[in-house]
Amino acid sequence: MATQVHSEIIPDTPSEVVDAPLQRPAKLAPKPRKKLVRRTDRDYSQIVRRSFQGAFLLLNVWIGSIFYSWVRQFELGGATGSVARPAGVEGWLPIAALMNLKYFALTHHVPSLHPAGMFLLLSFLAMSFLFRKAFCSWLCPVGTISEYLWQLGRKLFGRNFHLPDWLDVGLRGLKYLLLGFFVWAVSSMAVGEITAFMNSPYGVIADVKMLNFFRHMGETGAIVLGVLVVASLFVQNFWCRYLCPYGALLGITSLFSPARIRRNVETCIDCAKCAKACPSALPVDRLVTIKSAECTGCLECVAVCPAKDTLSLALPGIPELAPQPRTMPVWAMAAGIAVLFFGIVGFAKTAGYWDSHVARATYEALVPNADQARHPMPGENQ
Ligand code: SF4
Ligand code: SF4
Repeated sequence: MATQVHSEIIPDTPSEVVDAPLQRPAKLAPKPRKKLVRRTDRDYSQIVRRSFQGAFLLLNVWIGSIFYSWVRQFELGGATGSVARPAGVEGWLPIAALMNLKYFALTHHVPSLHPAGMFLLLSFLAMSFLFRKAFCSWLCPVGTISEYLWQLGRKLFGRNFHLPDWLDVGLRGLKYLLLGFFVWAVSSMAVGEITAFMNSPYGVIADVKMLNFFRHMGETGAIVLGVLVVASLFVQNFWCRYLCPYGALLGITSLFSPARIRRNVETCIDCAKCAKACPSALPVDRLVTIKSAECTGCLECVAVCPAKDTLSLALPGIPELAPQPRTMPVWAMAAGIAVLFFGIVGFAKTAGYWDSHVARATYEALVPNADQARHPMPGENQ
């Protein structure tokens, strides 16, 4: 699957040379250097974005610690029954979220198990449609840690590294293959199978299984995690770029987004600072609009551009009404992300859809014995 849609590349070669291939190639005159009209506004995009990243990372640490306490209370025999399960932990169950989305689409009923994961997925899909793959660079804790790692790698080694094109393109396809597998698996499940899976012991405590995977990690898991961490020091966003199926889904959604990074070729001075700053290695300096599924809306390119009114995340113009592309200010993007997140989560909470409906006695029986809950096989428990 093609992972990038690069279009409207500005050719380096003048058309007269292309039209006269048999003529002795004339020595090309150097491109006249354009005068830089320096921007005067201060760029706040990276302060705002990193604040969002930090806040969301802390939120996840907080949710994780409460969830751990919730699990421990059952493992210790329920002696401390005061901790409530934080449903936000279901953001870490993307496959359950996909199953629930299908269940909801077919039945028009909000599922009773792990509904929060579905609402979070809906919120992140909406963000991707409006603001490119902004979840990855503004909110995702894994994306944030990946960013910290490549920044650390840059400090340690003086630079990050790019894989050769043939390897990079091949590896980028992996996340789409993984996504394709999960989409195929979920799409081949009937509503009854989804219900049976969710109500199986494994489905009910899928979040506990996830936590226990990290708590009691085996040798293989530790080696894989170690390789990913080391690779992330060298290659920017290694996990996100090559392996994350969640990011692949959001990237495909972002292809339909009307918002794109747009470059004004009239005022651009071709300094290529934008391309150098792009963590997704996109050739921003040679495109007019960035349509790639790899663009995360991080605005790093916009932050470094020295030229006035040249690079921005913008909506397309409307013929007759406002033909020029309309720049989306950072505050509008930040507000939009916050409204989508808190709006959808707030709706689910106030409407009573947020929490899973599971009896405490069920958790008392299942959580301490989580290791015995195994993944149901296709056709089981129907
Ligand atoms: S630097 Fe610009 S082009 Fe690159 S991912 Fe971020 S927003 Fe997209
Ligand atoms: S940073 Fe990119 S868009 Fe801005 S002037 Fe340089 S090449 Fe042009």
